[in-house]
Formats: sequence, structure tokens, C-alpha cells
Amino acid sequence: MAQQNNQLDRAKFCCSVCLDLLKDPVTIPCGHSYCMNCIQSYWDTEDEKKTHSCPQCRQSFTPRPVLVKNTMLADLPGRRSSSSKAAEQRRSSRTAADSGEAAVAR
Ligand SMILES: [Zn+2]
Ligand SMILES: [Zn+2]
Repeated sequence: MAQQNNQLDRAKFCCSVCLDLLKDPVTIPCGHSYCMNCIQSYWDTEDEKKTHSCPQCRQSFTPRPVLVKNTMLADLPGRRSSSSKAAEQRRSSRTAADSGEAAVAR
């Protein structure tokens, strides 16, 4: 029996822009979550239209919402396992408390 439960659960932690696990997850006012980078660059392309919408539900926000990091999603266990991309996250790292691995990346 192949249950799809796992996939459903995973969708909750996936970004619908890059279709990967959320990286630096942020939740926008409609309740959907995206990677900080993904939604930022998505909204960058919308800047000239003076409106910013959710890629998933198309709800639009004016002015551009301030993005707040979702620490609950960020603390998901298991996200660190494949972390060759950790270097990209450096600029938004809070403290280097438990992220010694980022320094070893190169
Ligand atoms: Zn993404
Ligand atoms: Zn939405």
C-alpha cells in the first residue's frame, strides 16, 4: 500500500516557487509559506506593477508585506542533512550558535 500521506505532509513544507523544501521559510499574510529568496525575487519582478501577489492563491498585497522568518518551520528536523547550500544562507543566519557546518562549506 503506497500511502500519499507523506507527500501531503511534505507539501506543507515545500515552496511552490522552487518546489523544494522551504529554505529560510517566511509566511506571507495569506498564510502560504515560501523561501525568503523565492518570494523576494518573485515580488521583485512584480515591483513595477505596484502589486505583490501570492504565487499560490493569487491574493495580492499592497504595499509589499514585510517578510518575517517563520522560525517554527525553520527548525524542522532533517532539513540540515543535505546542506551544501548552507553557504547561501549565511547572510540571514542569526547567530552561529549551532551552524558550525556553514563555515566548513568551502
Ligand atoms: Zn523556494
Ligand atoms: Zn497565498
